[in-house]
Amino acid sequence: MRLGKDHHVEPFTCPYCKKRLDGVAGVDTDTLPEPEDVSICVVCGGVSVFAEQGCLRKPSLDELDEILQREGVQEALNAFIRSMFERDNVGHA
Ligand SMILES: [Zn+2]
Repeated sequence: MRLGKDHHVEPFTCPYCKKRLDGVAGVDTDTLPEPEDVSICVVCGGVSVFAEQGCLRKPSLDELDEILQREGVQEALNAFIRSMFERDNVGHA
C-alpha cells in the first residue's frame, strides 16, 4: 500500500471529529476522490464516504460493514493506527 499524491481541496468536515480538512491523498492512486469513495480521516481514523461536492458523510452501519470487508480498507486502517502510534512516540525515547 502506498499513499498517492496530496491534493489541496475545498475544505470539508470529518463527520466524526468535526475537524476541517483541506487535503486528500488516495491509497494506491493519485486521483481525486469520487462520490461514494471511502475516506479514512487522518485525524481520528473515522471511516466516511465521499458525497457530492467533496463532503463526507458517515456510512450506514450496513455500509460500514461492507466497507470494512473491501480489499485495502483494513490495510489502510492498519497504516493509520501505525501512524498514530508513531505520532504518540514523538518526543519519547
Ligand atoms: Zn476525523
